[in-house]
Amino acid sequence: SVTVVGSLNEDLVVTVDRLPGRGETVVGSAVALLPGGKGANQASAAGRLGRGVHMVGRVGDDPAAGRQLAALADCGVNVGRVQRTPGAPTGSATIPVEARGGENLIVVVPGANAALTPADVDVESVHRAGVLLLQLETPLETVRAAVAATGGTVVLNPAPPQPLPAELLAEVDVLVPNEPELRALSGVPDGDDSPAALVALARAVGSGDVVVTLGGRGALVVPAGGPALLQAPPPVDAVDTTGAGDCFCGALSSALDRGADLAAAVRYAVTAAALSTTGPGARGALPDDDAVQALLDR
Ligand code: ADP
Repeated sequence: SVTVVGSLNEDLVVTVDRLPGRGETVVGSAVALLPGGKGANQASAAGRLGRGVHMVGRVGDDPAAGRQLAALADCGVNVGRVQRTPGAPTGSATIPVEARGGENLIVVVPGANAALTPADVDVESVHRAGVLLLQLETPLETVRAAVAATGGTVVLNPAPPQPLPAELLAEVDVLVPNEPELRALSGVPDGDDSPAALVALARAVGSGDVVVTLGGRGALVVPAGGPALLQAPPPVDAVDTTGAGDCFCGALSSALDRGADLAAAVRYAVTAAALSTTGPGARGALPDDDAVQALLDR
């Protein structure tokens, strides 16, 4: 099974013609309340693709909590280890987005996500996970405790990026950064974005396997002991790439849990993530396994 330890947020997405400046008021044209948070997005993607996905996290004791749990359950995710946190709000993100071009601003309030403790992850679904999938929107000491507590394959999406202790990186089996995250971790802020240059950065950062997502270019597979390869995505009509990286991580974990080798799992994840860009929002177009297989077989 796949167990995700991570964040749950409620996203308030407001459509504006132009982002406001400091101290300025602008009038928006639409508002939507959407389930989000990297952890819950990744769990939802995995839940749509296969059975036995568990989420470990915290929500508040507010109306948003129920909406987050319902959205996950709707994707087939087991939420028995998502706890309510008295006195804390459910995590949230407020996101004004420009109608044309999609440029945005994001204000995140971690809320209950910040209250996830090492004790919270000392649970059966973490111990027994086939794949343990984590991000960095919950406290780092909790991420470390979960990694220490599992017997499964550890997949870490280092987002949002922060400096990571070498002992943690050494226990990660598959590190999945996008290009900006890889650059943040490597301390090389910009420069050559050729596959060869990115492979060198990936090998410098990760001790296990590294998979670098590259948006419309697909993903770069950098196995710990073997040649790198670039996996291109299938052609799709991308309309909204929000959450594509989250779908990628969920799909990669789902495939690894079902026994795929790294290259096959990345091919599956690239295909699922491409499909996820064909609808709005982070969870608006999450594919099921049949849809991914159909595109893989074409
Ligand atoms: P993030 O969402 O973290 O910024 P990326 O932009 O790298 O991550 O996207 C993650 C994955 O989603 C890519 O590796 C690719 O498989 C898929 N993807 C993203 N954008 C596109 C696109 N325009 N067309 C096809 N696939 C895409």
